[in-house]
Amino acid sequence: MFIFTAMKVTDHLKKATKPLFSIEILPPLKGKSIQSIYKLIDPLMEFKPPFVDVTYHREEYIYKKREGGYLEKIAIRKRPGTVGICSAIINRYQTDAVPHIICGGFTREETENALIELNYLGIDNVLLLRGDPIKTETHFTPEQGGHHYAIELVQQVASMNKGQFLDDDLKDVDPTRFCIGVAGYPEKHFEAPSPSTDIRRLKDKIDAGADYIVTQMFFDNKKFFQFVDKCREAGITVPIIPGLKPLTTVKHLNLLPKTFHIDLPDELVKEVEKCSSDEQVKEVGIEWCIQQSKELVNQKIPCLHYYTMGNSDIISKIASEVF
Ligand SMILES: Cc1cc2nc3c(=O)[nH]c(=O)nc-3n(C[C@H](O)[C@H](O)[C@H](O)COP(=O)(O)OP(=O)(O)OC[C@H]3O[C@@H](n4cnc5c(N)ncnc54)[C@H](O)[C@@H]3O)c2cc1C
Repeated sequence: MFIFTAMKVTDHLKKATKPLFSIEILPPLKGKSIQSIYKLIDPLMEFKPPFVDVTYHREEYIYKKREGGYLEKIAIRKRPGTVGICSAIINRYQTDAVPHIICGGFTREETENALIELNYLGIDNVLLLRGDPIKTETHFTPEQGGHHYAIELVQQVASMNKGQFLDDDLKDVDPTRFCIGVAGYPEKHFEAPSPSTDIRRLKDKIDAGADYIVTQMFFDNKKFFQFVDKCREAGITVPIIPGLKPLTTVKHLNLLPKTFHIDLPDELVKEVEKCSSDEQVKEVGIEWCIQQSKELVNQKIPCLHYYTMGNSDIISKIASEVF
């Protein structure tokens, strides 16, 4: 019988003899089956991703019209199932899965229980994030008894890795063995007062126990290389995995900067503006991402991480030119 043995992301990086291809997927919208995830991942398995990240989506608040016309505010989760999907991925593909864990919406105790569940499932990798403010709020508010920043989540997981759980009366605790990833921002996190402050706080996350960094998407490799240099100058020595997303529609010209607080290079914007259809924009975006990827591979970056946004055809086209 073949038994899958989980491997840490950092061990995959150490073992790699050539640049690795990895992906991030979103859980399907509630009501869709796991088949939609298999349909997305199946064609990408030919590029042998050693790990697949699965995002976490917290609740949103909506107003539902009730009898008598009054509006009821209710919490809904549009994309539940992160942990179940990770388990299904490991089972079907015998590849590692990396669930994203966020601070928002969880107390420390709920986080601990979720991590224990991951541990039982044999999931040894986590990407730890603060999460964005919920859509109806202007700034991030932690749950009562929850974490304010990702660093506190890193501290909690690092403690569990040392066998220290929240209840210090527990005896003979088996330590967890999570490999911890955190987010980094080549163009600065939008709330940070300055790039160097943001990097200082990133270093704090590493010092607290994070093992590697995955970056926010960027479209100008120079920004990534400068970011890596600044991280190294600040004493950050862990692997830094670039996150890449192809631009695929003309709407992205406004949407990507607004949503992710990033800039698009003039040259790319001009190419997109010349297009007369989204089909052409997609071609421009794919070609741009291929060139970005090839340059990163030439610079011996150990792993390239693609944000699939539910579309495997586009990522397949890019990967077949690069890997
Ligand atoms: C690779 C990647 C994957 C992601 N996946 C998800 C996902 O699955 N689900 C999701 O909801 N979101 C996800 N996000 C979005 C992420 O949650 C947001 O970008 C969020 O706003 C910040 O998360 P963080 O972990 O970087 O936060 P932090 O590291 O906590 O930083 C947040 C801000 O606080 C500042 N800061 C940190 N420490 C302190 C301190 N002690 N005092 C004052 N300021 C401080 C930082 O400089 C930064 O501006 C992802 C982002 C990336 C890059």
